[in-house]
Amino acid sequence: MRVLRLHGPKDLRMHEEPIPEPGRGEVRLKITSVGVCASDLHYYRDGRIGTTLIAEPLVIGHEAAAVVDAIGEGVTSHKIGDRVALEPTNACGECMFCKAGHFNVCPNVEFFGTPPQDGCLREYITWPAELAIKVPDSMTDDEAAIIEPLAVGVHAVRLADLEGGETVAVLGAGAIGLSVIQAAKVGGAKRIIVSEPVAARRELALKLGATEAIDPSTSSDIEEFKKLTDGIGPDVVYECIGEDGASYLASQIVRILGKIVVVGIPDEDVYTFHASPSRRKEMTVIFCRRSNDAAETSIEWVTSGKADAKSMATHRFPLEDAAKAMEFAMAKKDGVIRAIIAVS
Ligand SMILES: [Zn+2]
Ligand SMILES: [Zn+2]
Repeated sequence: MRVLRLHGPKDLRMHEEPIPEPGRGEVRLKITSVGVCASDLHYYRDGRIGTTLIAEPLVIGHEAAAVVDAIGEGVTSHKIGDRVALEPTNACGECMFCKAGHFNVCPNVEFFGTPPQDGCLREYITWPAELAIKVPDSMTDDEAAIIEPLAVGVHAVRLADLEGGETVAVLGAGAIGLSVIQAAKVGGAKRIIVSEPVAARRELALKLGATEAIDPSTSSDIEEFKKLTDGIGPDVVYECIGEDGASYLASQIVRILGKIVVVGIPDEDVYTFHASPSRRKEMTVIFCRRSNDAAETSIEWVTSGKADAKSMATHRFPLEDAAKAMEFAMAKKDGVIRAIIAVS
């Protein structure tokens, strides 16, 4: 089978490797569509995310759709031909965090495309059957690949415990920002103000549930947020940019006793907050780690039309053009939200 491995920064190489056999409790999956995530781009561009380095050639990609291709011993839940979205978090189930239901922060977790666990830019993988979540026929492979980033949005919004009626700010309208916008809308936020410099992304944000959009390249977002909230500031700010300075901005605009949910991963492994307003406002900062048990909710939302995955899967590339897809996604060209790699 064809396997694409990242050997170092910008060094993707195709390999021919044997097709794996499913173990007990596992299914073998033929990968169809894989979304290119900002975290894949970190590995692709820098060969690392924060303190996690690529030591051995790694298969990246964790936002995947697949078809069940073989069934391991003891699996009765799936049959060959089932179409699935993959839950990339394989938690141990034994530690105190798993036992309390916090699978996403399990210290023993295996996660696709994070060393040493290979990801999905390959034709076949094996994975625990319960982490291959069936999707209805009405959902396309590309939509099923969007389930993972959508689940991050669901989790990020859950972390802030919205009661309904809030004014929220979303900084950045890439796939994660757009997922947060959709989840905040379902969660009952009254106003969703997005700040995003790319015009096509602002437009899509408004289509998917944002009520107002700010262009930070032409106006000061601090002033705009002030103006739009009568000087009070948003109740919750979701930081979905992952650039240095975004958490700093969030601390400046959030209201007194407000919450910041940090979802973005900064290039330099540092988050900064403006100390004086942070302290004076007694704000709460919540860091979001991937998603926790939110894939089924995301599938239900897309199936019922509560969320739109289709609009986020904007471009397609064959597996051999994965490098092109990465460059395209990094340049944020042509209205790209998720570049999808069609593996098979
Ligand atoms: Zn992702
Ligand atoms: Zn665990």
